[in-house]
Amino acid sequence: MDCLFCKIVSGDIPCEKVYENAEVMAFRDLNPQAPHHILIIPKQHLSTLNDFGAEHVATFGAMGLAAKEIAQSLEVDEQGYRVVLNCNADGGQTVFHTHMHFMAGRAFSWPPG
Ligand code: 5GP
Ligand code: ZN
Repeated sequence: MDCLFCKIVSGDIPCEKVYENAEVMAFRDLNPQAPHHILIIPKQHLSTLNDFGAEHVATFGAMGLAAKEIAQSLEVDEQGYRVVLNCNADGGQTVFHTHMHFMAGRAFSWPPG
């Protein structure tokens, strides 16, 4: 399958990995929008959040838990951080292997653009 993030999971494309377990992997975004900008992805190819079913609840939970653990390891858990998941065109998704953006190290505004 011609998927950029599957190639990162398999090691065919290099990345700056910050976290990994059986379900998920996390690596630094190539075009960071914050001092810490990390993408948390399921190792399994799921194109968008719309592809998640009841059988993926543990995978999605693992992504959330990874965000918390990354925040703790970067020592930004108390000051705060933002987690964003873009889905399809209106959500602004450009890479079609589901990923959570983890961003920290500056204050973010709300609502997003
Ligand atoms: P999306 O717009 O789909 O929510 O986010 C895709 C993200 O993937 C963007 O923030 C973009 O900078 C990042 N990205 C695209 N290609 C690569 C790559 O080859 N390596 C890494 N580490 N990040 C990438
Ligand atoms: Zn993929």
